Amino acid sequence: MKKNVALIFGGKSGEHEVSLSSACSIYNNIDKQKYNIYTIGITKQGDWMYYEGDSENIKNGNWVNLSNKNAKINLIPTKDKKIGIEVEDKFYEIDVFFPVIHGPYGEDGTIQGLFEISNIPYVGCSVLSSSIGMDKIMCKKIFKEGNLPQVEFAYTTEFEFKKDKEKVISDIEKSIKYPMFVKPANLGSSVGISKVKTKDELEKAISEALKYDRRVIIEQGINAREIEVSVLGNDEVYASVAGEIIPAKEFYDYEAKYISESSKLLIPASIDENLMEKVRDMAIKAFKMIDGCGLARVDFFIDKDTNEIYINEINTMPGFTKISMYPKLWEASGIKYKDLIDKLIDLAIERFNQKN
Ligand code: ADP
Ligand code: MG
Ligand code: MG
Repeated sequence: MKKNVALIFGGKSGEHEVSLSSACSIYNNIDKQKYNIYTIGITKQGDWMYYEGDSENIKNGNWVNLSNKNAKINLIPTKDKKIGIEVEDKFYEIDVFFPVIHGPYGEDGTIQGLFEISNIPYVGCSVLSSSIGMDKIMCKKIFKEGNLPQVEFAYTTEFEFKKDKEKVISDIEKSIKYPMFVKPANLGSSVGISKVKTKDELEKAISEALKYDRRVIIEQGINAREIEVSVLGNDEVYASVAGEIIPAKEFYDYEAKYISESSKLLIPASIDENLMEKVRDMAIKAFKMIDGCGLARVDFFIDKDTNEIYINEINTMPGFTKISMYPKLWEASGIKYKDLIDKLIDLAIERFNQKN
């Protein structure tokens, strides 16, 4: 029997556009013999809409105007109605959710909570692992517990910073040297992130990051090579070969990630065999430490000056276009894009069956 997959994309986060591209790629490549695919978009305002039609319109944003305004999306189970989409006189029951939403409300455990309540399998990390993965402060605390090497970090809140800026800044300067990276605790795609070299810049950067979140993390900035590993699995976890990003700019900011075409992916990363093994092991360990399931991309830095390796972050819903690092690394490790989509759906069902 064909399974009905609801592909959910868009969302309220700053990574809305990235999600549209990922969803378009998944739609085009998912095995249509095995799955019926129903596309649900979430607008930037947070409205859920059923869209039926050309996948190009997902990517270019036209789906918002072309979506079926009369369709009803039922996500809360009631006695007389299953989870699914009601379009005129038809009802499509959903067997699996496939959320390809990056950042807050998509990758942070909130939408996953909704799927738990609807009692339907969903692709990717659980409520807990998604929310830890999204939160750079919590993640660092957990990685510390697992002795995964990380750069020095500090954090502050809007409340503390407003109360006494001078104290917050002098405390940070005690433990971290310039340059520093300042980031909102919960975000992705480099939104709200600054590299700072002076006290003045630090103060401005914290205010900037506080526009996106009430908590901010400040990290030791290093001269970094960027190494990434894809992870796949539930209890049995596999790591791909590592890849390397060669950013077109001083650091891998939003523009270098998605706008300019000149950032390059080097697969496999040019690191020796020992280091390759080490980062792959660290990626699996990091995934297990947050109790991940399904997928994640684990990102590392290699300090160009000292050759030290550090874990940077874990992304529980990494970019998923055909040319994104996550699927590219799997392709280089022997899993084709189309099969990867298949495996993710199988893992979602496997996890659901374990629990129920
Ligand atoms: P996001 O979740 O938005 O991708 P990251 O923590 O990965 O946030 O930071 C984005 C980019 O900023 C990294 O890919 C890297 O280029 C740069 N960067 C972040 N932290 C550091 C750091 N401590 N030292 C050097 N570069 C950093
Ligand atoms: Mg991230
Ligand atoms: Mg990153």
